Amino acid sequence: MAKNLGSKCKLCRRAGEKLFLKGDRCATPKCALVRKAYKPGMHGPKGEGRGLSDYGSQLKEKQKLKRSYGLSEQQFRKHLVEAQSKQGVVGDNLMSRLEMRLDNVVYRLGFASSRSQARQMVSHKAFLLNGRSLNIPSAEVKVGDEIQVKKHKADRKYFKDLQLVLKGGANIPKWLSLDPAELKGKVLSNPTREEIGLGFDLASVIEFYSR
Ligand code: SF4
Repeated sequence: MAKNLGSKCKLCRRAGEKLFLKGDRCATPKCALVRKAYKPGMHGPKGEGRGLSDYGSQLKEKQKLKRSYGLSEQQFRKHLVEAQSKQGVVGDNLMSRLEMRLDNVVYRLGFASSRSQARQMVSHKAFLLNGRSLNIPSAEVKVGDEIQVKKHKADRKYFKDLQLVLKGGANIPKWLSLDPAELKGKVLSNPTREEIGLGFDLASVIEFYSR
């Protein structure tokens, strides 16, 4: 258990910033990036000052984005290719695709404290999408779709406790709505880059793949 926890934190330490992969722990002083603010394998912050090449910084940015969403290289490339094939700004299309994954929406609605937990919950069939059971974390949701915790799962302690927290006021993005009493959320619109509000340099990510 501790080993797994450490490996996720290593991804943040390599990126040099928080990727929020461990849920609630990420906001506490237990965060590995707070305790060890230097790259894994080093014995301290010495030697971190060297600048990265263009390639190095683009690679770093791409890895950061990919790891934040917990995707494999293959999955990430697929999203990028599909973002490039659509009309509009590629970076915006890419972020919209990543955000509209079912596992991400479950995370954004506050049903899980990290994307990896959300993925696991979706795989374990905890949710209905528009009234139908779906266990595919990568499923693409659309504007108007409804995501609800299954009734028999909602009776479990995890969701009962969560319901109290969500009723107390949850930080839900504007492009989603949440009904805590029903443990149900709805996609109101496509998220804009401003609404997503993440600090990714998308131009570097796209540049990386256009080499
Ligand atoms: Fe670990 Fe979360 Fe901190 Fe990243 S942000 S180092 S995953 S605790």
